[in-house]
Amino acid sequence: MIWVDRIAKQLGDKTQHIDDMFTPSGYAHMGSLRGPILHDVVAKVLASKNKDTIFTYVFNDFDPIDGLPPQFQKDFSQYMGYSLRLAPSPDKKHKNFAEYFSEDFKHVLESLGLKAKYLSSWDMHHEGKFNEVIKIALDNKDKILDIYRKVAGYQKKAADWYPLQVICPKCKRLGTTKVTAWDGKVVTFTCEPNLVTWAKGCGYSGSISPFDGNGKLPWKVDWPAHWKVLGVTFEGAGKDHASRGGSYDIAFALCKDVFEYPKPFYFAYEFFLFGGKKMSSSKGIGLKARDLTSILPADVARFLIVRLSPEKTLEFNPAGDSIPNLFDDYDRCLNAYFLKLENKIPKKKAGEVTLDFARIIELSEVKPLPKKRLYLPRFRTVANLLKVKNKNIPEFFENYKKSKLTVEEKEILEERIKYAKIYLENYAEQRDLSLNTKHSTLDFSQEQKDFIKTFAENLKNQIEDPQKIIFDSIKEINIQPREAFTAFYQTLIGKSYGPKAGDLIEKLGIEKTIQLIKNNTSGGEKQTTSQFPDLNNKKVFSIDPLLAQKYPSLNIAIAIIKGITVNKNDLKLRKEIDEFIKSLQGLTTQEIGLFPEIQSYRRIYKEMGVDWHSKRPSPEALLRRIARKKELYQINTCVDAYNLIVMKRRVSSGAFDLNQIKFPTVLRFPKPGEEILLLGDKEPTKYNPADLAYFDQIGGYNIYFNYRDAQRTAVTENTKNILLNIDGIYDITREQVEQSLKENIEIILKYCGGKVELAGIVSASR
Ligand SMILES: [Zn+2]
Repeated sequence: MIWVDRIAKQLGDKTQHIDDMFTPSGYAHMGSLRGPILHDVVAKVLASKNKDTIFTYVFNDFDPIDGLPPQFQKDFSQYMGYSLRLAPSPDKKHKNFAEYFSEDFKHVLESLGLKAKYLSSWDMHHEGKFNEVIKIALDNKDKILDIYRKVAGYQKKAADWYPLQVICPKCKRLGTTKVTAWDGKVVTFTCEPNLVTWAKGCGYSGSISPFDGNGKLPWKVDWPAHWKVLGVTFEGAGKDHASRGGSYDIAFALCKDVFEYPKPFYFAYEFFLFGGKKMSSSKGIGLKARDLTSILPADVARFLIVRLSPEKTLEFNPAGDSIPNLFDDYDRCLNAYFLKLENKIPKKKAGEVTLDFARIIELSEVKPLPKKRLYLPRFRTVANLLKVKNKNIPEFFENYKKSKLTVEEKEILEERIKYAKIYLENYAEQRDLSLNTKHSTLDFSQEQKDFIKTFAENLKNQIEDPQKIIFDSIKEINIQPREAFTAFYQTLIGKSYGPKAGDLIEKLGIEKTIQLIKNNTSGGEKQTTSQFPDLNNKKVFSIDPLLAQKYPSLNIAIAIIKGITVNKNDLKLRKEIDEFIKSLQGLTTQEIGLFPEIQSYRRIYKEMGVDWHSKRPSPEALLRRIARKKELYQINTCVDAYNLIVMKRRVSSGAFDLNQIKFPTVLRFPKPGEEILLLGDKEPTKYNPADLAYFDQIGGYNIYFNYRDAQRTAVTENTKNILLNIDGIYDITREQVEQSLKENIEIILKYCGGKVELAGIVSASR
């Protein structure tokens, strides 16, 4: 039995009124979907037993604006304190601020199959439906204050507090008014300049009727009040409202002592987290609700929420393997549903599980479920096939199915191709392994070489079950399995063992597996994958041996470019930067943290004893400005140009005025007492002993591995010659450093001209 059936059993046969709500003060984030979907599932199950079940969804559009999404802060700050309904819409299509966001969310909810009657709190107030509960609350304000104090421990509210705010007739603000008296007909109020920090009242005082939409109860009182108004018997809330002394406790106490209304069924559900964090639109954590429906088919998105018990934390992060795994789970449950259709439910425990799976699928239904078993093209395979050029995907699955795909099956395949493309473009590559990894395969026996070659050939032609292909290839060559697997892992990951072979191939993707085999088995002749040579000139630059020993993964690119012209700005460069920013639309700060390059810098910051929450490595700092819709700093054509590459490649770079540098330069730990005058500072900063920093014969010219640069060597519009460095460590490979160097040089030459005098790589391990 799944969670919703357990709840239905507890609720019994009584007719239920299910309700949920949302405050349309910004774009709903993905986490806001959990509540409405859970309520919808409960409503559906109850309606199947009792057709009188009611399901309403209230938009709290009367609430005041007490915060704004970042992109609206400039144009809408004048409306802070206004009711959401009285502020204008950001676009021309909607009537007001509330409608702009509630319509957006409603659209997402409807696309996920939510069938509710949508209500507006503003409208209900203006229709007089809240008059009775407002009167009760005002008449019982001392009881309410007592409950606030006893249940929630609120000691701060003064004895003259009233549970109501009215819309100021003069300045239209709601969030700034304080009611000071109630005579049974009208309330006396003041529009206070300093009641809240986020809005300023106009100072007007007067009396007004609290009814018919003039006033509104505070949320904690409004919640149980609207239960009474609508007749709600079931309304859940997120875990944050269910803590001791929280909204739920207050609401239940108010039901009993003030509104004399039977408390609804208690239903608290856990958070919907993104990468371990609670989602928040204002902090840029997670995805918007409508983003979830653009990366997953509606049924699968709904399945993500339906399948998990409300008391469990729901985690979803679209990066990496989560989406293919989700589709696999969906298919497993759909298969159970087919077994149910076919009356083939296994006996005992296995049968219970099968029925639960089938139930989850039935409740995840958005478009009608198939009436009989279908062949399901596996999403992971579809994604892998899309990586192979010119592959006839329907034909592939028809071969596998050993018959033609039906119309319905073709539709499913089309849909999966669509979403697999979205997945590949946006999420699959984020944790990709480097293609150019070169492993030694020189000591392979002839048999091992033959096996790898045969395996690669077989893999090209058939990809449904890579594990089987390995065993077929082993048989074909007649090699000892141990020998074969050693060769397999050595070729792909440079070790003699590894994860399950099939999983490794799935993770790498077919195309990449074949590419790696090609790269690593070219018969012993040295491949020239390097774009730049080793730089063996300690008179120019070296890595201090102590540092090299501690961080053998260091790869530093060095270049000298002479004769450049630096300008304040350049329109073409500006355009190139703007286009790049546009391509990152929807990027969140959470996603930035998932890039292996960013994780590598965070790791070295940790090693240096620097808190990366307060001092962000430069690629992260730049990308965060974009994610938070802040303008990038414009310095000059040289710095702006290479910063674009820093953002594109996520590899940190620095350029320094060569005429201020006294060679040789070295990457080393600071000596005791060494300090640096940073660009923009008045006082020098002391280095940490564990810092990694670049020094010339005069002193340090940056701090924390290119976090900030020195004033002395800054590139300005007078700079003619520059020294460039690029910082690779941990997962940032030499190939990535070389690629960054190449693009850095290209963009500097493009916008500043000049000539490359020297360019090369210094690796700690060589
Ligand atoms: Zn006012």
